[in-house]
Amino acid sequence: MELTKRQAVILDIVKREGPITGEQIADRLSLTRATLRPDMAILTMSGLLEARPRVGYYHSGKNPSRILMDKLHSIKVGDVKSVPIVVTEKCSVYDAAVTMFIEDVGTLIVVREGGFLEGVLSRKDLLKITLGGHDIYKLPVGVIMTRMPNVVTVETEESVWSAAKKLITHEVDALPVVRVSDDNSGVEVVGRLSKTNITRLFVELGES
Ligand code: ADP
Repeated sequence: MELTKRQAVILDIVKREGPITGEQIADRLSLTRATLRPDMAILTMSGLLEARPRVGYYHSGKNPSRILMDKLHSIKVGDVKSVPIVVTEKCSVYDAAVTMFIEDVGTLIVVREGGFLEGVLSRKDLLKITLGGHDIYKLPVGVIMTRMPNVVTVETEESVWSAAKKLITHEVDALPVVRVSDDNSGVEVVGRLSKTNITRLFVELGES
């Protein structure tokens, strides 16, 4: 994060003299409190300074990269996930390809009755089988999908950082977001987290 010259001076004053009131900071700079208000808002919202009523401002001790790290670990998969686009195992390769186009996704999640996870299907899975000259109108996706327990998943409460790490480590484009049912009867699909979700978050963080 780029600070203005005045914000850098304020940060310096608070580091040296904090806790210090807004009034005192304004005095040091020969400015009014009102003039400083937007700068104080930016410095507190960014996490560089903290403010406590009747105490004043003090330095949070965090540097900008630490703040970004805290943020990425605090945002949960549940905050950014998309709805899952699902098919059943019996769905034909042809219908799965049509669903990918209609729903504008690159990964389909294969579920059984009750929304329980069975597998995942990617663009390349469909391409590979199509190039192989199979009857794609008859062949069910159950034959070609990546099947449980080999599916990499995330849970709603996991951090987006942990999800991004799984995407990179396992070299996949999307992860089913799941909830493990209490009676251990299966892994219920509650969402989808793709590289697009991570990229969108990245853009939003850059804009805020
Ligand atoms: P693409 O086919 O467009 O390269 P992926 O990289 O996501 O898309 O898929 C590569 C392979 O990994 C495919 O065979 C797919 O079935 C499998 N795959 C995709 N997502 C997952 C996942 N979450 N867990 C395990 N395997 C996956």
